[in-house]
Amino acid sequence: MKKHNFYAGPSILSEYTIKNTADAVLDFAGTGLSLLEISHRSKEFVAVMDEARALVKELLEVPEGYDVVFVGGGASMQFCMVPFNLLKKKAAYLETGTWAVNAIKEAKLFGEVDVVASSKEDNFTYIPKNYTVPEDADYFHITTNNTIFGTEMRYDPDVKVPLVADMSSDIFSRPIDVAKYDIIYAGAQKNLAPAGVTIAIVREGALGHVERAIPTMLDYRTHIKKGSMFNTPPCLPVFSALQTLKYYKQLGGVKVLEKMNLEKAAILYDEIDRNKLFRGTAKEEDRSIMNVCFVMNDEYKDLETEFAEFATSKGMIGIKGHRSVGGFRASIYNAMPKSSVEALIETMKEFEKNH
Ligand SMILES: *Cc1c(COP(=O)(O)O)cnc(C)c1O
Repeated sequence: MKKHNFYAGPSILSEYTIKNTADAVLDFAGTGLSLLEISHRSKEFVAVMDEARALVKELLEVPEGYDVVFVGGGASMQFCMVPFNLLKKKAAYLETGTWAVNAIKEAKLFGEVDVVASSKEDNFTYIPKNYTVPEDADYFHITTNNTIFGTEMRYDPDVKVPLVADMSSDIFSRPIDVAKYDIIYAGAQKNLAPAGVTIAIVREGALGHVERAIPTMLDYRTHIKKGSMFNTPPCLPVFSALQTLKYYKQLGGVKVLEKMNLEKAAILYDEIDRNKLFRGTAKEEDRSIMNVCFVMNDEYKDLETEFAEFATSKGMIGIKGHRSVGGFRASIYNAMPKSSVEALIETMKEFEKNH
């Protein structure tokens, strides 16, 4: 039976990415060696790294003065790298979910943190709107997509201080105005590649203004200077990332991806709103087009386990919601075909008919 992969992360990758990665594990770039055993200094791998960085710039229309780095440590490492490199006195953060909470915790190790608004009281079901960002903040940090709670800021906010964004779970899902940001970062395992590599897009002018000593590996300038080859990069994830980026380019770029994502999300939310058994958990205007969270309506709560089993029997994988929300979460990242979303909708309809 066909499996439909709704895992939140690591998560679905395009067939193109998986096939090309598998091929390169056997024979990388005609070298007769596996991608797993080649030197990162070989000309074949250096070419992969260079092309991957160039394609990120091309797809996201990254302006002059910015650099793209591939580093290890996951998005969670960026939670400390950002304040290490940028926080002089005070930073402002928007608290929109678990990942934002984790980022705030790290920033507090480096200076004053002004949490300008939070939706914690409401279990992060919405994105706060009417907040003021202090003009003396060194930067304002946002989490554009809240993977666990299914809310998303599908816009680049206008504020008077530099923006920093954790875009781990929605990078490449829409065009972004990179010029508004000092740093954009994203762990690869949601919209790009296997776990192990993290992208950071960094405005070079933003660096070098803090007094503190920064450990070499945690200093963005190290990785910029060395073209992300200061130390051994995660070669396989970088290779896979390049395949995904090529695939995105072939499809027509992030505008096309955004259109596809909007369509997929719209049909699924329509079904959640129509189906008497289910309801969405995120406030409508803030609904994510990447992670769709829903629960059983109160009068059908006791059907939850039965639906989970039914969905599994229909080939739906990974739709169990995160423990802090409960219910279900369908992650429908860039690589998710519309046909899989339609299969989930069919499953929901069929289950409704049986009850
Ligand atoms: C998954 C995720 C993270 C954590 O990523 P790691 O690579 O596991 O550190 C951080 N932020 C967001 C928005 C995520 O979705």
